[in-house]
Amino acid sequence: MRKKIVAGNWKMNKTFLEAEELIAQVAEALENRKLKDKIVVLCPPFLFLELATDIAVESNFSVGAQNVYPDDRGAFTGEISPPMLESMEVEYCIIGHSERRKYFNESHEFLARKLDALLKHNIKPVFCCGELLPERKAKKHFKVVEKQLNESLFHLNKEEMSEVVIAYEPVWAIGTGVNATSEQAQEMHAFIRGLIAKKYSKKLSGEITILYGGSCNSKNAKELFSNPDVDGGLIGGASLKAEEFIAIFDAL
Ligand code: PEP
Repeated sequence: MRKKIVAGNWKMNKTFLEAEELIAQVAEALENRKLKDKIVVLCPPFLFLELATDIAVESNFSVGAQNVYPDDRGAFTGEISPPMLESMEVEYCIIGHSERRKYFNESHEFLARKLDALLKHNIKPVFCCGELLPERKAKKHFKVVEKQLNESLFHLNKEEMSEVVIAYEPVWAIGTGVNATSEQAQEMHAFIRGLIAKKYSKKLSGEITILYGGSCNSKNAKELFSNPDVDGGLIGGASLKAEEFIAIFDAL
């Protein structure tokens, strides 16, 4: 069954005490809510993953990392491996975020390696894709997203693919306050689902969770999530305040 997810990407925000407070606030708010088929994922910085997984044991949210290195171990100073995340009971990991593609030059090929490495260690990848503003203006957005999926994702077999969550995040919408319209989101999500149907099967395409990300907040979430192919959101800035993040969860 297709899962509905609201995931908070904290990026490089919060100190230890702030992280503790935010996680506790989210956990408390979720205590009084029925999640049913909805999943909440918190993706704090690496340093606070243990804090998050400790609280998650007693609560009903899941924990995700924001990044991973695609080798199990070795001389990669400063990096974190999939077995390390697995040993911390981290269930999800964001990869392919536009900030990593831009500032850390992460290539399609490198992302494909990360995907394989995560799946080998039972961590669900949250694979981000999305076009730049000039690409949309040039009406190349479908081609760009298709290439991102083809080159990093579509080497997976059916079983592996069923573990992946996709997040469509138009780069022009990330952190800008300008979200994709409901129509733009639905159109791209339906396109992605169509590609999965063609490459794998109609059944699998109907089961894959596709999140929207990019200036999603408590005001626009309901409309964005009301689309048949939008299964929730990957939330950046608006995940840094418990009340706002929970309001987005309530909109799902
Ligand atoms: C993100 O970084 O994944 C994101 C969607 O950011 P924001 O919600 O702040 O646009």
